[in-house]
Amino acid sequence: MTRIAAPPAAFDLETRLVIIGAGAAGLVAALVAAEAGLEPLVIERDAVPSGSTALSAGLIPAAGTRWQREAGISDSPELFARDIQAKAKGKAEPILVEAVARAIGPRLEWLAEKHGLAFSVIENFRYPGHSAARMHGLASRSGRELVDRLRHAAEEAGIAIITQARAETLHVDAAGRPVGVTITRPDGTRESIGAEAILLACNGYGGNPALVAKLIPSLAGALYFGHPGNQGDALLWGEALGAATRDLSGYQGHGSVAHPHGILITWATITEGGVQVNRDGQRFSNEAEGYSEQAARVAGQPGGVAYSIFDVHIAGVARQFEDFRLAEAQGALVSAGSWLELAGKLGLDAAALEATMAEVDALKVAGGCDMFGRDFAGVPRLTAPFCAVRVEGALFHTQGGLAVNAEAQVLHENGSAIPGLYAAGGAACGVSGPEASGYLSGNGLLTAVALGGIAGEAIARIRKS
Ligand SMILES: Cc1cc2nc3c(=O)[nH]c(=O)nc-3n(C[C@H](O)[C@H](O)[C@H](O)COP(=O)(O)OP(=O)(O)OC[C@H]3O[C@@H](n4cnc5c(N)ncnc54)[C@H](O)[C@@H]3O)c2cc1C
Repeated sequence: MTRIAAPPAAFDLETRLVIIGAGAAGLVAALVAAEAGLEPLVIERDAVPSGSTALSAGLIPAAGTRWQREAGISDSPELFARDIQAKAKGKAEPILVEAVARAIGPRLEWLAEKHGLAFSVIENFRYPGHSAARMHGLASRSGRELVDRLRHAAEEAGIAIITQARAETLHVDAAGRPVGVTITRPDGTRESIGAEAILLACNGYGGNPALVAKLIPSLAGALYFGHPGNQGDALLWGEALGAATRDLSGYQGHGSVAHPHGILITWATITEGGVQVNRDGQRFSNEAEGYSEQAARVAGQPGGVAYSIFDVHIAGVARQFEDFRLAEAQGALVSAGSWLELAGKLGLDAAALEATMAEVDALKVAGGCDMFGRDFAGVPRLTAPFCAVRVEGALFHTQGGLAVNAEAQVLHENGSAIPGLYAAGGAACGVSGPEASGYLSGNGLLTAVALGGIAGEAIARIRKS
């Protein structure tokens, strides 16, 4: 559906900045650009801006914020940048890592002060890989609230958001500079909009099965848990323009989505002492490495399913999450007084499951490491009644994308910036490197909010000069 074409003889409408996508990246960029007097025009394919932002928990990591200082939390952008690179095994673009780690704190404070987004820092839980409590969220801890408040702020600021308008054609002049877009309405009508600058804020390619199969083959055909409208349009336009791309195999996945219910089962079921077995009743991985990399491992098991095995005590912990309660209400949770009974209810080989769980229990008692490298020292033993949920691996969002510089300008394969073209959020390459294991919690909204703001500022600067 995406096309590159020469500009029409005359555009139906002319503006200075067009932003494609009204998720966190697009809306933050629009607010920043509007403050600088730019009158951005935001194009959104949905009737109500939602995106993957609305599906997220809305939690944004930031270092050195006033909320952290008030809570006595010591942190810095440098420490944050080190944590990002440690998770990405040093493979994330250093310039981008440094830029977003530095920009995000001031941007959240600005959103709070100027636009009334009342962030607070989560103090009672440290997300894995973060050296400080630095996850910030709004009161409901939901992405729906985040995107709704950003949209409300945009409306208050008088920013025009054209909804039910899919950007399909990117117009490029003879010199290779993008100069406008054509949008298509649900009834098939089209409008062309000329612009001095275009920001691609239309996220990644998780909603495009062909691109997922090509770029992340281990998750070909797997459930996509993100926003279906994110179909890789930024990547396709960029590639057609000769833009450089980076880390296209990177993504955030999740190895614990109830099947066939499609409801997220908290990873606390595993971290609190549970394990995963396949249809043969065998374990197949070190589950403790992380839920993101577990997505492809589960997808690779017979039938593309696995069984998260835990106990009634862990189920009690998991019930604090609404999703878990919902899955339970829909019958996803199976419990039994013995491994034999549980195997029978799940249709698994009873002897195999019993042997697997006896081995896990022995490792916990001895404090030993298994053949996959999972260290069971100090991990609580499971006690009856036992519980299980049949799960599948899912793709949450892609992390690779168009290569950008620290000003969010899209780079050509030759390293130069493509004039007038910017990318932020999931449309740009992230800070997670090329592997699923490189995703540090919060990297998604970090690059959406921080890079969106950076793009808005950079575009405003160019217009002034
Ligand atoms: C279940 C889930 C949980 C998550 N939890 C977290 C979390 O707690 N913390 C975190 O940091 N990240 C989380 N993420 C990731 C995070 O949601 C994303 O990284 C982030 O929202 C990306 O923001 P964005 O603005 O780039 O994209 P989006 O919010 O997806 O916005 C892109 C918008 O572009 C529109 N669009 C696409 N193509 C076009 C087109 N051609 N024309 C017009 N409009 C178009 C889409 O409709 C969409 O509204 C989670 C993701 C999922 C799926």
